[in-house]
Amino acid sequence: MEEIVCCSCGDVFERSVRHKNQRYCPKLSCKRARKAAWKRFKMRTDPDYKFNQTVSNKIWAKANPGYWRDYRKRHPEKAERNRILQSIRNRRRSKKPADQSGSARELIAKVDASIVNKFKMVGQYWLVPVIAKVDASKVNIFDIPLL
Ligand SMILES: [Zn+2]
Repeated sequence: MEEIVCCSCGDVFERSVRHKNQRYCPKLSCKRARKAAWKRFKMRTDPDYKFNQTVSNKIWAKANPGYWRDYRKRHPEKAERNRILQSIRNRRRSKKPADQSGSARELIAKVDASIVNKFKMVGQYWLVPVIAKVDASKVNIFDIPLL
């Protein structure tokens, strides 16, 4: 028997004689980590798999309306984490030069995500137009942590 270190938890385990390329120990959490890694790899490298997953997820979301809204209510820390990561993705996307379709400049935003946020507010300011006759608009400026 050969002893190897698990890619997920770092524990030493004995490799199965039937699986000579085994890199994850048989713990349930490590099996899930292996499957998640495989799925990430597949989503990155197999366009057909990615398309089928996307279609399947949309069908499931349609059959389970409100699941993700409830999930965000049950896990506010996850919603906050996603909000911060999405703002980083939006910023990265906006720094890329715009392509012909202009899709690189589009931002992803959920309407309810902009209402409830826990960013640290720096202050409230008024944007007052100097030349054009347009009403002044009040804006909130938030501190979004950098990478
Ligand atoms: Zn493990």
